[in-house]
Amino acid sequence: MEQILAVSNLVKKFGGLVAVSNIDMTVNKGEIVGLIGANGAGKTTIFNMISGSFHPTSGKILLEGKEVQNLPAHKMCNLGIGRTYQIVQPFADLSVLENTMVGALVRDADVNRARTKSKEILKFLGMEKRMHVLGRDLNLPELKRMEVARALATQPKILLLDEVMAGLNPSDSAMVIELVRKINESGVTIILIEHVMKAVMSLSDRLYVLNQGKLISSGLPEEVSKDPEVIKSYLGEKSRKNPPQKQEE
Ligand code: ATP
Repeated sequence: MEQILAVSNLVKKFGGLVAVSNIDMTVNKGEIVGLIGANGAGKTTIFNMISGSFHPTSGKILLEGKEVQNLPAHKMCNLGIGRTYQIVQPFADLSVLENTMVGALVRDADVNRARTKSKEILKFLGMEKRMHVLGRDLNLPELKRMEVARALATQPKILLLDEVMAGLNPSDSAMVIELVRKINESGVTIILIEHVMKAVMSLSDRLYVLNQGKLISSGLPEEVSKDPEVIKSYLGEKSRKNPPQKQEE
């Protein structure tokens, strides 16, 4: 399988806090890779480094074999890293279409082509009927989908999805799961941070599990979910905090 992304010995310190500690990770072209772990484990910090928002304290990030760890976010976006954010921040006074065009214009400065491309993407995501609605008037599931639309409009090779299912009810989560599959089938490699276990287990080809900045397990979802270390530090804690009857999944 062809490797598209590799991080090696990745470290990020914030003052005295080691948020990410010597992480090695690889992602193959066409895969869906899940990144899981308790709050504060370092998942978003890894996304921030892969997308160029933060530079690592040390370590390497290789995109298609080239070192990119020192490039700024706009360069990473140009090279094909798209991302969504945990906290969705739409342009409230712009329509869904215009918000999506903000992404498309990164790739192509021609406004008409950006509009056409954005319409295509909104259709692909089943949002064409909401195209002219303002960002401020969207509900949470729609906001999440618009966030995905904006990221997809940058035409990423790798899409980083940061908790796109958080706060959604089971039927909206199921819809997002289907969309993630559809995006992946269209040729986009995906890295997914997700606390909704049912979603991450069913979507991911492979998983990486973090705890307090360290990688504690990786492998196929069925292997990782049986790993005693993972159960102890994450899944056990999750089931204590979220007894089954209350789980959003
Ligand atoms: P969650 O599931 O809650 O989103 P996470 O696994 O994404 O958590 P991170 O957001 O990556 O965790 O945070 C890892 C650690 O780094 C935390 O202790 C956090 O407080 C710290 N941290 C993250 N960003 C910064 C920052 N910009 N400055 C200082 N500390 C930070």
